[in-house]
Amino acid sequence: MPHAAPAVPTAAAPTGPELDALAASLDRAHLFHSWSAQAHLTPFVLAGGAGCELWDHSGHRYLDFSSQLVNVNIGYQHPKVVAAIHEQADLLTTIAPATANLTRGRAAAKIVEHAPAGFSKVFFTNAGADANENAMRMARLHTGRDKVVSGYRSYHGNTGAAVNATGDWRRMPNEYARGHVHVFTPYLYRTEFWARSPEEECERALQHLERVVQCEGPETVAAILLESVPGTAGILVPPPGYLAGVRAIADRYGIVLILDEVMAGFGRTGSWFAFEQHDVVPDLITFAKGVNSGYVPAGGVLISDAVAATFDERVFPGGLTYSGHPLAMAAIEATITAMEDEGVVANAAAIGADVLAPGLAELAARQPLVGEVRGTGVFWAVELVADRDSRRPVSPATMGAVKRALLDRGLLPFVSDNRIHVVPPCVISPEDARRGLAIIDDALTAVTAGGAA
Ligand code: PLP
Repeated sequence: MPHAAPAVPTAAAPTGPELDALAASLDRAHLFHSWSAQAHLTPFVLAGGAGCELWDHSGHRYLDFSSQLVNVNIGYQHPKVVAAIHEQADLLTTIAPATANLTRGRAAAKIVEHAPAGFSKVFFTNAGADANENAMRMARLHTGRDKVVSGYRSYHGNTGAAVNATGDWRRMPNEYARGHVHVFTPYLYRTEFWARSPEEECERALQHLERVVQCEGPETVAAILLESVPGTAGILVPPPGYLAGVRAIADRYGIVLILDEVMAGFGRTGSWFAFEQHDVVPDLITFAKGVNSGYVPAGGVLISDAVAATFDERVFPGGLTYSGHPLAMAAIEATITAMEDEGVVANAAAIGADVLAPGLAELAARQPLVGEVRGTGVFWAVELVADRDSRRPVSPATMGAVKRALLDRGLLPFVSDNRIHVVPPCVISPEDARRGLAIIDDALTAVTAGGAA
């Protein structure tokens, strides 16, 4: 039955449970949600936040272990970022991409400061998907080739080529572009290669990639596009040597290496870019999310000088009305500056090393449902299994119970397939990180006692 549209109050209403009810009913009347069958949704109402906490209109508070869609690296309502957006709004709220604008130039320069040597240009997009879309376009024009090789266990976005580069289920209903080829990337816990060690997984995954490139015809392959650390697919930190090996394969066949840092970049893994921990430099870097924590939508491509030179005399056939939108640019400059001043990236690394790594290892030892924990920085996955020997994932019903138990205890989780992703804002304190782990521990104990399968 269709929902009746509720009356919208014209004046600001007081905080209270009636606003939660109104938000929920307006949502059900008028909002069409991503990746969902619409009829049975009960979206969660959130009204405000600060730092690592969020709350609804009724005053229920949640510790955020999700960073929303793993984008709020700097936490909610950072005063300096909010002030920078206000200031830019007073100055100029919008300006076309073809103009030179000081805020835009400063945002690009700030990003370049954290890029490897040999990168000096940024192409701004509205988000991560169109960053990947334009990176693939650059690679195709730069090489004069067509195919893009990416991982099955990946997500690259929801635009035409980005969703075809995606490896997970979201690709299949959208497959219409040609030239996308997929490979298995390293995932030792569920190895495709019968590997027993990270070294074997690395070596065999590289051999598989090279064979696929050879069989596709190297002269047809424009790009290898990989998430430096596949995120939504399960936070699959590559074994040592894998990304460097991919770089070597790309070099051997004249292929452009695109590393997608949309989720892993800007502090999430404890370094500015995740690839820095893997002794590799790509040709193109895509980013979004953490670059300004999503305060105003933005993404982009960091372009190596060699690829940028292709377009010195030749037109780059791509553009967006809001490329380099000044409000997003002001948020980028303020976010990166605040991250530098406040040591946010170092905090993510320390929380990972000192709190999450040991805390999750203890959780894995204590909780029979935990099959594996893996990650780095504030980017961790807790993989839940019904049986540790067969590694059979827990059922969707058990995951539903886990999610409910976490929310009931005041933790906002990121739950995906049979995993809890432990992905709080990079600014989280050790105390809050420990509090979140204790909630997960307690929730798993309760779900196990209730008979998980
Ligand atoms: N690439 C990666 C690795 C992502 O995780 C995402 C989104 O989650 C995207 C690209 C797409 O970004 P957006 O949703 O901003 O288009």
